[in-house]
Amino acid sequence: MGGACGAKELSGVRAMTAKAKRNSQEPWIEVDVLVTGGGLAGGTLSLALAQNGFRVATVDLENPAEWTDRGFDGRASAIALSSQRVLHGVGIWDVIEHETAPIKEIRVADGHSPLYLHYDHAELATPGQAAEPFGFMVENRSIRKALNVLVPKTPNLTYYAPNVMVALERTAEGAFATLKDGTRIKAALVAVCEGRKSPTRDQAGIKITKWDYKQAGIVCTVEHERPHDFCAQEHFLPSGPFAILPLPGTAEKPGCRSSIVWTERADLWPLMMELDDDEFLEELRLRFGDFLGEVQVVGPRFAYPLSLQFAERYTDDRLVLVADSAHGMHPIAGQGLNMGLRDVAALAEVLVDARLAGQDIGSQAALEPYARWRRFDNALMLAVTDALVKLFSNGNEPLQVARDIGMAVVDKLPNVKRFFMRHAMGTVGDLPKLMRGETL
Ligand SMILES: Cc1cc2nc3c(=O)[nH]c(=O)nc-3n(C[C@H](O)[C@H](O)[C@H](O)COP(=O)(O)OP(=O)(O)OC[C@H]3O[C@@H](n4cnc5c(N)ncnc54)[C@H](O)[C@@H]3O)c2cc1C
Repeated sequence: MGGACGAKELSGVRAMTAKAKRNSQEPWIEVDVLVTGGGLAGGTLSLALAQNGFRVATVDLENPAEWTDRGFDGRASAIALSSQRVLHGVGIWDVIEHETAPIKEIRVADGHSPLYLHYDHAELATPGQAAEPFGFMVENRSIRKALNVLVPKTPNLTYYAPNVMVALERTAEGAFATLKDGTRIKAALVAVCEGRKSPTRDQAGIKITKWDYKQAGIVCTVEHERPHDFCAQEHFLPSGPFAILPLPGTAEKPGCRSSIVWTERADLWPLMMELDDDEFLEELRLRFGDFLGEVQVVGPRFAYPLSLQFAERYTDDRLVLVADSAHGMHPIAGQGLNMGLRDVAALAEVLVDARLAGQDIGSQAALEPYARWRRFDNALMLAVTDALVKLFSNGNEPLQVARDIGMAVVDKLPNVKRFFMRHAMGTVGDLPKLMRGETL
């Protein structure tokens, strides 16, 4: 497999090997890309790069054996069709497909208003071709489970987990990282995928703009009497959106399981989390309604405080920010991971192109196309999600009337509706190759 390091890095290795001997420490393990944070985005990036001939070392704080515990991360993500193509491209989809549910319809309602917006994937069907779903519901644990299956089988890729980088020196010759267990890794580039609280980003001096929504997303799984028919529902309530998202269900009761993302105000969500199971169910029922019959909460509940954050820049010498380390958004439109996977697909493509052009993949020149490509797109999505939060987490009566009329109008305009539906599929804009279902 071809690597990305040229003669410049080789001389750097020699220099650092001498230093290593001086310190009588571990020898330097040389790779092309060091990925810090091997979760949803970092894991997908690691696979995409290794499958395209880069030597990759990935470090994660957590023990992968615990990733699939029910208590690790209760989220299920709505991923757009374009994101599904990325997961398919790196092999994750084949492992998890049977655990996913397609999203065939989307219904958006403003509280208990009779006016609503309804999208049906069948409206995008073309003659002779079955309509594709808007996207899929995937439990985050499923993606992590797939990483545990795929990583050991992938040549060029090594996970160091649980582990953490304790020192990083970035020079013209390379990025020199020391892990907690003493492992020393020399890379041409460090791809930072550590999620929102990224120490490597902070240590690189990259500032973030951040504001708190004073809300949390309460997440849990429910079983219900009647099947959801693969319809994702979002109800805008005064405290914030309440989403009911279709999961696959069980063999006995197919389509009778959903993931809940219940946005609640900062002064109320801790109280909701403290309720006993019966009280919690009662509160949930008030918001859920009875359109799917009897409902029961299954498994643990989680609360994620919600904020917006955006890094002032995405690159530095031999360093690049990816996914939540670069941007964090409100889950109102279910776009955080989708944008993260766009970053992954774009970065993998930019690095393959840089290698072909004989560039040093850690140089600012090689990374600049990624920053240009992704920063604007992410900023736009942050602005859209922020506007939606302000528009819909608001009990102001004239505003409520205006947004209800707006939704009803969009519902009656087929071209506008089709535009929004394609956006939901993530198939518009300047898509990276992996998102178009192409190879790099
Ligand atoms: C309530 C809620 C609902 C959501 N729903 C959706 C949805 O429907 N659709 C959607 O697209 N998005 C959704 N999102 C957003 C989505 O969950 C995130 O965008 C996504 O998890 C980001 O992935 P990531 O890999 O960047 O970060 P993370 O998932 O946070 O993973 C970071 C990884 O880095 C590791 N790590 C952290 N620090 C270090 C370190 N110092 N060194 C090494 N490793 C480290 C962690 O162990 C972890 O494995 C939702 C978010 C919330 C809060």
